Amino acid sequence: MVVGRRIGATGTRTRHLSADLTPSGSGDEGIVLRLEAVTKRYGTFTAVDGIDLAVPRGQIFGFLGPNGAGKTTTIRMIAGVLLPTSGRVFIGGNDLGREPEEAKSRLGYIPDRPHLYEKLSGREFIRFVAGLWGADGKDTEERGQRLLQLFDLSHWQDELVETYSHGMRQKLLITSAIVHQPELIVVDEPMVGLDPKSARTLKDLLRTYVENGGTVFLSSHTLEVVEAVCDTIAIIHEGRILARGTLEDLRRQADAGEAHLEEIFLKVTGGDGVAEIVANLQDTVAP
Ligand code: ATP
Repeated sequence: MVVGRRIGATGTRTRHLSADLTPSGSGDEGIVLRLEAVTKRYGTFTAVDGIDLAVPRGQIFGFLGPNGAGKTTTIRMIAGVLLPTSGRVFIGGNDLGREPEEAKSRLGYIPDRPHLYEKLSGREFIRFVAGLWGADGKDTEERGQRLLQLFDLSHWQDELVETYSHGMRQKLLITSAIVHQPELIVVDEPMVGLDPKSARTLKDLLRTYVENGGTVFLSSHTLEVVEAVCDTIAIIHEGRILARGTLEDLRRQADAGEAHLEEIFLKVTGGDGVAEIVANLQDTVAP
């Protein structure tokens, strides 16, 4: 089942960018991201506990979990910025541990706490990041221009990053992660700080990108967004995957009827008693 296929006004704009949003090397069938028994320990604390995941090409895969569940730790291991304690990560068939350059060349990473170079202009930053991926030249430059235009950043591209607002930084980061046409985009909390129009643009952009053969692995607390855009969803809690599948699959697994994702999420992660707890706290929270 596919959850959410709506392309609106900005969708039309992103469609015009179809060629820019076509990942290089797309067209292969199968699994683009595979995690095998991936574990991460910080000292004696196990943050991610032997998780297995297989993400098919051409999907937006949603990764959900309560605070501290292990989402960012998992995403950082997929992006290759954090080494697993044990287990393996494969990107497009390349083992990230053994063939890091090949694996990472297939990937675009949008972290939740980005580091941007303050003394570069937006245009310079994109050129710099694209260069790190080995993508340069006229085509990359033009693609960057079109993406900046899509996010209403063209007028700011020659200003220093230090003058950018939070949302503008987020949009610059998204542009820099997409400009080298990766096969897989891994994105941690993408909507935070974006105004409604930019959030919509990003949703449409990700959808267009998967329709052109790309794959998105997306972590977010914004359940309406996940419900609207994700084809498959996994819920992680205390370092373990508790449920996975389409929204329909999750409803079945959680025995949740026609419930929305929020109810399923609370049921699976043990948060469905929240209303009762708050009611019992009435005296404590009263003014
Ligand atoms: P949130 O939704 O709050 O961002 P998350 O699901 O992304 O949470 P992680 O950031 O992956 O969670 O953290 C998982 C667990 O690992 C948490 O208990 C956290 O305290 C712990 N943790 C994360 N980074 C470290 C670290 N560098 N050293 C020790 N413990 C860590």
